Amino acid sequence: MKRIGVFTSGGDAPGMNAAIRAVTRTAIQNQLEVIGFIGGYSGILQNQFRLLQARDMANILQRGGTILKAGRCAEFFRPEGRALAARNLKEAGIDGLICIGGDGSFTGARALFLEHQIAVVGIPGTIDNDVAGTDFTVGFDTAVNTALHLIDKIRDTADSHDRLFLVEVMGRNSGFIAAYVGLAAGAEEVLVSDFPVPVDSVIKRIQEAIQRGKRSSIIVVAEGEKSGRVYDLAEQFRKRAGLEAKVAILGHVQRGGSPTAADRILASRMGAMAVDALIKGHRDVMVGVQAGQFVLVPLELAIQKNQKQTPQEFLKLVHYLAI
Ligand code: ADP
Repeated sequence: MKRIGVFTSGGDAPGMNAAIRAVTRTAIQNQLEVIGFIGGYSGILQNQFRLLQARDMANILQRGGTILKAGRCAEFFRPEGRALAARNLKEAGIDGLICIGGDGSFTGARALFLEHQIAVVGIPGTIDNDVAGTDFTVGFDTAVNTALHLIDKIRDTADSHDRLFLVEVMGRNSGFIAAYVGLAAGAEEVLVSDFPVPVDSVIKRIQEAIQRGKRSSIIVVAEGEKSGRVYDLAEQFRKRAGLEAKVAILGHVQRGGSPTAADRILASRMGAMAVDALIKGHRDVMVGVQAGQFVLVPLELAIQKNQKQTPQEFLKLVHYLAI
């Protein structure tokens, strides 16, 4: 193995730069050349790449986003697109490819391996923490902390004005951010799509809290299929029970910012391990962390849908502690 490629794909996540740095410098330590493809799979299809040097990695560890740009690529869903990508990779002399992204990106990477025998290794990078086979993904801890700081600020107003707040956090098909931030912020209730709760039960819980003397409450809601459903929820509260709720949608601030120490460490360890795995001949795997141990997980497992539910014990503990 002489030359490897690396790219970031799907949505960006804080810590992706730390992973790129670890991949590049580990490869250089092992006398490998590193090619960075720009803009995810599109960069491979359009031959947009550059040689990455150790010095290019200076001062990116603490930066959010990704210096390689991220993105989605419709052409890669088609076999012809993947065939072109494989040709380009072979022409560029790439012996192994490291994909930093989520389960969608890994599905594409796996197809590239199965159809064209490209040696791929994945590093899970997404704020949603919705990749199976790893307890944590790069970016999740930062997103939780960003949301937490914002909710702490909202709580000041909720408390000063005796208000009920509905706060929408990111997580399309995943309730991880909501569950973690809900517990950390002392929310009254956390609403996620994989454990749906009837509106009337939520209203009853809030009414009971008011009767117990609670004057302000925060309900954390995972965005689900479409951002903005918290407005419908606030409307239902008003119509069904005359409860006035303020709405805050945290939005894309959760995707950016300087990665936390936990994310930088996770990304650095995963980046180094991914290169090591390629050198040792592993293919079609993702680097994961399970119960504190770093492991290689077959991509086939990592891309399975609905394998990773929102931790229900978090939701129960939120209720238990919100008396
Ligand atoms: P994430 O990796 O964060 O889950 P996406 O699901 O948007 O993000 O996937 C990123 C890109 O990966 C897609 O735009 C596409 O190029 C590629 N991809 C996703 N799913 C597949 C698939 N089933 N087959 C081939 N390529 C895919």
